[in-house]
Amino acid sequence: MTLRLGVIGTGAIGQDHIRRITHKLSGARVVALNDINKAQARAFATQERLDARVVDTGKEVVDAADVDAVVVTSWGPSHEEFVLASIAAGKPVFCEKPLAITAAGALRIVEAEMKHGRMLVQVGFMRRYDAGYRALKKVLDAGAIGDALMVHCAHRNPSVPENYTGDMAITDTFVHEIDVLRWLLDDDYVSAQVIAPRCTRHAHAGLHDPIIVLLETRKGIRIDAEVFVACRFGYDIQCQVVGETGAANLPEPQSVPLRSAGRASTEILMDWKQRFIDSYDVELQEWIASTQAGVVHGPTAWDGYFAAVTADACIAARRSGQVVPISIADRPAFYDNKR
Ligand code: NAP
Repeated sequence: MTLRLGVIGTGAIGQDHIRRITHKLSGARVVALNDINKAQARAFATQERLDARVVDTGKEVVDAADVDAVVVTSWGPSHEEFVLASIAAGKPVFCEKPLAITAAGALRIVEAEMKHGRMLVQVGFMRRYDAGYRALKKVLDAGAIGDALMVHCAHRNPSVPENYTGDMAITDTFVHEIDVLRWLLDDDYVSAQVIAPRCTRHAHAGLHDPIIVLLETRKGIRIDAEVFVACRFGYDIQCQVVGETGAANLPEPQSVPLRSAGRASTEILMDWKQRFIDSYDVELQEWIASTQAGVVHGPTAWDGYFAAVTADACIAARRSGQVVPISIADRPAFYDNKR
């Protein structure tokens, strides 16, 4: 059965997802799309020669009789509305992160999904689909380094635009670590602290960069993560898990080791889009397959909610300089077969 998809939001990632669904992946096709800027959606559909109609509103996409499942790639603040509408219509929905822009909004989605009685929501935390993170998880799950004790991470970006301000180091950047480390360690967080080292002169006005986020898990694992978004030298993702009998590192992206001009070197990517590009394909292909099977295998609404609560705690910790507890109810049994 070919899954008929409706896409809401045809900006950067919406267009990328539609292209991969149409040209690279199998088992689904886009039949309806919408963007708040309808002219832009229409221009994109024409340019790509999509066999899909552009409709007036996101709600129309959700309610269309020929749409089996929904992909939400619109602006973050609109996600909650479209995910709730999809649940109300009983349709599976893939929602790009964030699930909602507040923890309260994410909780409303969790509650609506539980009331509906079947999992429908998957959140676009694509690092879980990255071959490197999957390899690292396999090593940890096999017990190759014993129990994990500490995690050292870095999320570095050469630069960010002027409109990257305020708490975006947490909500846009570190949020990927928040999700992937929970999944990697099979654990939840209990506290957060944020330390602000000396600020780089390359940070634009209003942004303190870098920061160090410290998280503690239920099992007592300590995570330190550097978030440095004006580092200049590359889009550099590091993750080392230290266990009782060894340390395991996230593999570096493949690059030809070069010996030239008196130096031995490998490339560091500069563009974030390239770093996890393959994981988006895997993520959506697996979502298509699980949706056809009527289940959710990826990051759930509960994971989206946990990420929102953790992000809020990190933001509070950054403002106060204090250790902020992360208190959240135990995961409902409804989400038990998933993390
Ligand atoms: P973008 O280029 O700004 O695209 C968002 C699109 O949604 C824009 O065309 C916007 O129209 C449209 N839109 C806004 N409100 C809408 C509404 N109510 N109904 C329909 N369309 C609406 O942003 P993006 O980079 O594609 O990001 C979209 C989402 O994906 C964000 O939540 C972002 O965090 C997430 N994302 C995730 C990843 C990842 O790695 N998982 C990567 C990139 C983005 P206007 O421009 O006219 O407002």
